[in-house]
Amino acid sequence: MMQIDKSKPVMVTGATGYVAGWLVKKLLDEGFTVHAPVRDPEKKEKLKYLNDLADKATGKIKYFKADLLAPGSYDEAMKGCELVYHTASPFTSKIKDPQKDLVDPALKGTRNVLESVNKTESVKRVVLTSSCAAVFGDSKDLLALPNGTATEENWNTTSSLNHQAYSFSKTVAEKEAWKMNKAQNRWDLVVINPTLVIGPGINPKSTSESYNLIKQLGDGTMKMGVPPFEIGVVDVRDVAEAHFNAGFVSEAEGRHIVSSESKTFLQLADYLRPSFGKDFPLPKRQLPKFVVWLSAPSVGVSRKMVSNNMGYPWKVDNTKSKEKLGIKYISPEKSINDFFQQMVDSGVFNK
Ligand code: NAP
Repeated sequence: MMQIDKSKPVMVTGATGYVAGWLVKKLLDEGFTVHAPVRDPEKKEKLKYLNDLADKATGKIKYFKADLLAPGSYDEAMKGCELVYHTASPFTSKIKDPQKDLVDPALKGTRNVLESVNKTESVKRVVLTSSCAAVFGDSKDLLALPNGTATEENWNTTSSLNHQAYSFSKTVAEKEAWKMNKAQNRWDLVVINPTLVIGPGINPKSTSESYNLIKQLGDGTMKMGVPPFEIGVVDVRDVAEAHFNAGFVSEAEGRHIVSSESKTFLQLADYLRPSFGKDFPLPKRQLPKFVVWLSAPSVGVSRKMVSNNMGYPWKVDNTKSKEKLGIKYISPEKSINDFFQQMVDSGVFNK
């Protein structure tokens, strides 16, 4: 059975990111030396939050320069590591070219990191941050599944470069990881497939799309109403715990859907109303699907995206994450309130 030596360094790609932040904190608090390959180790402002964590912890953090698109650039950071977390991948809606901005860093980046793993004899396990977006594409696709519910058995077959490009990028990247894992027998692969991650980050002003989406509930963008859209949500602290346990639970294997409950945007706004309704223009109603469909192109959203995703129930099975990784989910009500409070405190809504 695979055992990780806790005295060895652990590598985390994308350590500066929203999802990786709490994982790095947990590793540092447990006394690990974290090897953090980042794009720009000289950008002190970006590393400030991680350095603050390390100052308060028993573990250490060491930075290396690396880019998902630069072959071999992860070799140095990986030296001596038995465990590699690969979280880095762009999660943004601000894209011009889906191939260049999403698919290349996701797919070539995964290949690049795993080629370094193949060269680094010490590595025993890789934990990959995939997404529920690699499990299924559009909400409508769930209708074809038993009980309308997705499990780890399912794969996204409907996303493409032209439709749901982010989901496509995560699907091709995870498939590549499984292909490279199956072509050898030294390292095992454990995959985390989170739904929409919410909750307070280590860096209160992250660029993750999670921030952009939730910010819109409070900045007036959605004051006339929210789209009739439901999605699974999960607290960023639970996602970190799932990653940590995926690294250290010897018998962990395969994919893990990591999701607390599915909620509509209106339900999320309703959770915020008692504490924030007086001071913020939280949405009070759901817009009819046809209204969203008509106006979609004017906000850069395709009508196909609206047709195939709005107004559908959204169900995934999180049993495996609870049974195999021991996750006890934080409630969406707490996650969204803690997240919003952090945005308020850090001045995200200040004009
Ligand atoms: P994020 O805060 O924007 O983090 C993305 C990370 O990837 C950053 O550390 C970024 O580094 C790094 N990165 C991007 N392009 C890179 C490149 N070319 N070379 C090296 N590093 C690069 O977003 P996030 O939400 O934490 O996403 C992290 C992971 O979680 C991704 O794999 C994403 O698909 C996955 N995920 C997120 C969610 C969610 O709801 N947030 C849900 C499911 C899965 P810089 O700091 O240098 O930009």
